[in-house]
Amino acid sequence: MSQAQPAEFAGIVFFRRNYRERDLLVKILTDRFGFKMFFIRGARKRGFRLNAAILPFVQAEYVGSVSEDGLSFINAAKEVTQYRQILNNIELNAYVSYIFELANAAFGEAKPLGGWFKQLQQAVLLIDQGIDPAIITNIIEIRLLTYFGVQPNLHDCVICHRTDEVFDFSESYGGLICRRHWSVDPHRLQLDRRTVYFLQFFSQVDLFKIHSIKVSQTTKNHLRRTLNRIYDNQVGLKLKSRRFLEEMKIWPI
Ligand SMILES: [Zn+2]
Repeated sequence: MSQAQPAEFAGIVFFRRNYRERDLLVKILTDRFGFKMFFIRGARKRGFRLNAAILPFVQAEYVGSVSEDGLSFINAAKEVTQYRQILNNIELNAYVSYIFELANAAFGEAKPLGGWFKQLQQAVLLIDQGIDPAIITNIIEIRLLTYFGVQPNLHDCVICHRTDEVFDFSESYGGLICRRHWSVDPHRLQLDRRTVYFLQFFSQVDLFKIHSIKVSQTTKNHLRRTLNRIYDNQVGLKLKSRRFLEEMKIWPI
């Protein structure tokens, strides 16, 4: 079953890679097939008719032929829209690349994402509209943890289940521990209240209801270090796009 089937789908271009002399491989986040690589013949020829539809971070409705395990193709595109701020800003670009690379690692190749397509699309839209990309990234990172087999309990104390206490985060206990149980983990992360509050808030907030969100730079740095630590120790990913954010000094180290 490697015959390509005709298909219509929505998508956002993730990245493109030169292939042979005149062709491109374009990876698209699609609503029906998840992250999928497409072979675009003649795409590097001048005046290629689908050029506008295969630029990075362009969103469109595509018509193509999709194969489960062979090559997939794009034949036409309509309703092509650009995320202009992201396209023109290297920092926003770097954040969206990271979010996509992380989601690609979480879901794998050509696996339907279900409701996650709309979540990721909304994340891109919010970043393009000027909502703080560091915050949107944190929200996605916390939500994706479960797909990496890490499900931190951010709801209550993992030991006594109180919700009305001062909390810290314990990696070895897999979630929040309240002040009365801090002694169980000498390596708890020593988080301040605001950082804990935002970890909890981000794990529940609806991306479709965010209109503005302000977090101080100090708290953003704490959140960044906390998520780095969880991802380093419990997920163990080494993503190119994260290294780029760090090398560009967009992220604190
Ligand atoms: Zn407790």
